[in-house]
Amino acid sequence: MSVVTQQTALDAIWEKVEAGERLNLEDGLTLMESDDLLQLGELADAARRVRGGTDEVFFVQNLYLNQTNVCRVKCKFCAFAVTQKQADAYTFTPEQLVEDALAQREGTGFTEIHMVGGESPHVDFGYYVDIVSKLHEAMPDVHLKLFTASEIHHMTTLSGLTHEQVLVELRDAGLGSLPGGGAEVFADRVRRLVAPGKEHPDFWFHTHRTAHGLGIPTHCTMLYGHVETYEERVDHLLRLRGLQDETGGFLAFIPLAFHPENTVFERRGWTHTAGSDDLKMMAVSRLLLDNVPNVKAYWIMMGMPLAAVALHFGANDVQGTVVREEIFHAAGATTETEQKIEELVHFVGEAGRIPVQRDTLYNELRRWE
Ligand code: SF4
Repeated sequence: MSVVTQQTALDAIWEKVEAGERLNLEDGLTLMESDDLLQLGELADAARRVRGGTDEVFFVQNLYLNQTNVCRVKCKFCAFAVTQKQADAYTFTPEQLVEDALAQREGTGFTEIHMVGGESPHVDFGYYVDIVSKLHEAMPDVHLKLFTASEIHHMTTLSGLTHEQVLVELRDAGLGSLPGGGAEVFADRVRRLVAPGKEHPDFWFHTHRTAHGLGIPTHCTMLYGHVETYEERVDHLLRLRGLQDETGGFLAFIPLAFHPENTVFERRGWTHTAGSDDLKMMAVSRLLLDNVPNVKAYWIMMGMPLAAVALHFGANDVQGTVVREEIFHAAGATTETEQKIEELVHFVGEAGRIPVQRDTLYNELRRWE
């Protein structure tokens, strides 16, 4: 597309955003193909404000746990999973997880536990229910955001139960919400290349749709920056928007940049996404996902300085204090895992925004003005 036509196309998108009109696939591609990063940021920020966004930027105090790194799936982008026979394999018991969480809580006062892990064939469904009920019993006031849609699907294969039955049992044991992992990029072509062992993306949608129907809110993600095209990214976002139209059950969208270290992609010469691609992805996500209230700049992957810039590209959340993080660190993220509240407050304030500490469901706990 020539520079002049591209500018005209962006102007047309400006008009749609200002009029509160919905953007389509073609608009999404025009945005992805644009090199005018600053205008994309301006557009995304305008879209956020047109839809009622304010200067508030949210974060949560949370603890990251991984119950096991044993996984049968072998996704090509994953640096975290091992087999049961590998020396560094671990599977924590529910009691160990509770003990660890209680010890962490003394020093940090987190309000949320975010836990995901591998799909181990060496545990049964009772293991997952026990984890939820024991954590809930030990910390009834902590929100449990546990298990990706892929893990929920894994539990159906372990137990012979339906997705709904699995979710009802977990909910009744104390599950509060689902994280958004396992979505990767929905296009069949991409899934065949990067995650051939993973169930079809239809199961991701089925799990989230069922959770929403049961009153369990969830999150949604996209892991970008590997083999996918711009069109496949836009298609992914539009599919998420479609489910949100139906259910309204997504709390937030989190774009996740691929980290190639310690994966087959590193050996093939893949490198990190450029900061400009991360900012563009943030902006396009905000522009297309007109019905998802929150877009997160996940600082553990982006680094805090870039996450602060992303606040001007449509993001309104910087995720959390993240007491522990293992999956992305195995893939080479070097950001410190324990970011003090004061640092988050400082970065958000320096970006000209109002830091607001929230709980998982976006209820305000504290603000700095
Ligand atoms: S991304 Fe998840 S499902 Fe895939 S190999 Fe890693 S732990 Fe297993």
